[in-house]
Amino acid sequence: MSLEKSFSIGYDFEGIVIKRIPMLEKSLTKISLDTLKHIVKIHTKKKSRFSIFVLGRMAEEPKVSDYLTYLSKTNKYADIQQHGYSHTLFKYHSLKGHPISLETMDKEISDTNVLIEEITGEKPKGIRAPIGFYRGFQGEKERLKILRKNGLKFISSDLRGPNDQYPAPWKDASNRYRQPYFYKREGYAEILEIPTQGTIDVRMKGISKSNKTKSLTIEEELKYYISNIKFAFKNNLNYSTVFHPWAIAYNDKDLFILNNLLDYLVRKRIQTLSYIDIYKQSI
Ligand SMILES: [Zn+2]
Repeated sequence: MSLEKSFSIGYDFEGIVIKRIPMLEKSLTKISLDTLKHIVKIHTKKKSRFSIFVLGRMAEEPKVSDYLTYLSKTNKYADIQQHGYSHTLFKYHSLKGHPISLETMDKEISDTNVLIEEITGEKPKGIRAPIGFYRGFQGEKERLKILRKNGLKFISSDLRGPNDQYPAPWKDASNRYRQPYFYKREGYAEILEIPTQGTIDVRMKGISKSNKTKSLTIEEELKYYISNIKFAFKNNLNYSTVFHPWAIAYNDKDLFILNNLLDYLVRKRIQTLSYIDIYKQSI
């Protein structure tokens, strides 16, 4: 396996509604879980690896933890990692303001490590930082120290463009492609950042509170992912995405996008990697 010409999907499993959406309010945990089960079925059928970043608060729900335990024991395509405990800010954010303290961040991560370890029997190796930032944890030595203390080997936090806005560009300010990198400059050469490129499902579906844009149809959203995959393929890059089961439930109950996306990848013989696969490929 190589990172070149690869595609990765990470599902942030959180059950959070950013804007109040009546159809999702009935039972968000149930809707998120039902959608995740459907997602898992499709990935398994198409033999496609993927990652689930579980919010600690979700992992405490008995139905969720039972299912994830079952999944970790029976499914070789799923990679289960963490998303913090309660979806807080780990770093200053231009649109959302000040972060939680170092102490609280440590607790957010260590509590979720315990919950995930109870589920999978293994301590998580990776985390998706809630919200996401421009340049990820670059320059954040104290925050990286907390990751090391908690045994985390990779983080996906570099998810946005300048001023913490979407989309996250393909190239950084030095005109280099934004691809997985280690936090060497900060003294944490063993911690890998897995950036994502482009915009996210929540925004394309028109249910994001910030960065309001015209919502796309599911056909247009599919086209958007495929155009990015083509770009990555042409330039020998990895394209990593952020999906949300609750957002998928909002306008794509039959999982039209995922079904067609994975079919496209199979046809084009493009490999799908989970985030742990990216980490293992990078060390
Ligand atoms: Zn999230």
